[in-house]
Amino acid sequence: MYNVVMSDLKMEDVVSLCKRRGFIYQGSEVYGGLSGTWDYGPLGVVLKRNIMNLWWKMFVEDREDMYGVDAAILMNQKVWQASGHVDTFVDPLCEDIETKKRYRTDHILKDNGIDPTGMTMAQMDEAITENNILSPEKNKLSQSRTFNMMFTTHVGPVADENSVSYLRPETAQGIFTNFKNVVDSFYPDLPFGIAQQGKAFRNEISPRDFVFRSREFEQMEIEYFIDPEHWEDLFEQWRQNIYEWFEVLGLPKECIHELEVPEQDRAHYSKRTIDFEFDFPHGRDELLGMAYRTDFDLNNIQRDSKKSMEYTIKGTNTKFIPHVIEPSFGVERALMAVLSAAYREDEQNGERRTYLALPEHLAPYKFCVSPLLKNKPELVEKAREVYLDLKKKYRNITWDDNGNIGKRYRRQDEIGTPNCIVIDFDTLEDDTVTVRDRDTTKQTRVKIENLIKYDE
Ligand code: ATP
Repeated sequence: MYNVVMSDLKMEDVVSLCKRRGFIYQGSEVYGGLSGTWDYGPLGVVLKRNIMNLWWKMFVEDREDMYGVDAAILMNQKVWQASGHVDTFVDPLCEDIETKKRYRTDHILKDNGIDPTGMTMAQMDEAITENNILSPEKNKLSQSRTFNMMFTTHVGPVADENSVSYLRPETAQGIFTNFKNVVDSFYPDLPFGIAQQGKAFRNEISPRDFVFRSREFEQMEIEYFIDPEHWEDLFEQWRQNIYEWFEVLGLPKECIHELEVPEQDRAHYSKRTIDFEFDFPHGRDELLGMAYRTDFDLNNIQRDSKKSMEYTIKGTNTKFIPHVIEPSFGVERALMAVLSAAYREDEQNGERRTYLALPEHLAPYKFCVSPLLKNKPELVEKAREVYLDLKKKYRNITWDDNGNIGKRYRRQDEIGTPNCIVIDFDTLEDDTVTVRDRDTTKQTRVKIENLIKYDE
């Protein structure tokens, strides 16, 4: 048994398994697709929700200092002016001068073995010229220019500058704009956090690497409001919390790397940023980010809305605008890391087998139940009984009576079902079933009444 992520896991293997087994399909595929969009199939939607629910449980429900919100995707354009996104949410873009195809300049450099970290746009252009770097079609590249990644739309029947709105490029602003509401309703002590999960949209110049860089994706963000005096300690606490998150996702520690982002590469609002990178099949890349966003956002909101964003420490006259630490998680990147870490290949009885060693709490199905033979009504009836009983308790149970038992195991292995339960003739005699373990393929005889206990 070996984990291919450490050696030579190929992106195509993950993509093909995801499509074949109903996890992820290309968006609008039937019409030739829409670049940078993806649709989740019956298993993908469960895996994705399992990740999101786990996050919500860990970072909101299990804590006493967190509040959840679910803000609108469309927001007043002033939000994005105040946040700086209208002016500075840009990536460097260059163009193949023959084909007119557009590329992200920093990606072109990376693909040619040059690390663009810390470079200004002019320095990137210089590096392209000095190293005679051409486009992927082997043509000359233009000078770079900035490209704003927000999708613009209009709200209401009149399309003029006053009706301009944007599909939010981050969920964070929906948190900041509700800071005062949450304080007024709950008056929590500092430090406290507000969390949100939801869609974000970025008009990425070149979406690539499967769902890793999409134009429509999902974020899970926390703004943790603090007294700036304590920012270093709290930053460190969140760093630890993030490692706990990696552990519940089942990500190997050795595949995670911290990148201390240099000042010139940090977002315009950040005083310190750590990117947590993961060894994805396409290479080492950002899985999630954590930034000390200071009081930048609340200050801007106070300035532009003319509403006080100050917080008064209870029982005192001490007033100030809280600072924030922001851990920002991407759902698609978490899902891709989970799939890559779980992807395994081995040999069983001389045959190559692919399976997903997903942590049990993330697997789309907990159990697969099947009768040994489909054409024996007494077996089917008994199997249905077991299936319905388990389904009452767990819901995420599947039924599979297609093909022979070996084929069913292969199918369940590929989608990461941890246990397959088979009802055979002995079951009718002694109420025991075979439980087959996905990872070891070991089979155990278990009393039906102990199945739930078996799992616990
Ligand atoms: P990158 O440098 O890879 O473009 P970023 O630094 O712009 O990412 P942030 O603005 O920090 O990303 O966004 C927070 C998180 O949202 C990222 O860590 C990532 O998990 C997720 N994310 C950002 N852009 C995308 C995207 N285009 N597709 C999928 N997830 C994304």
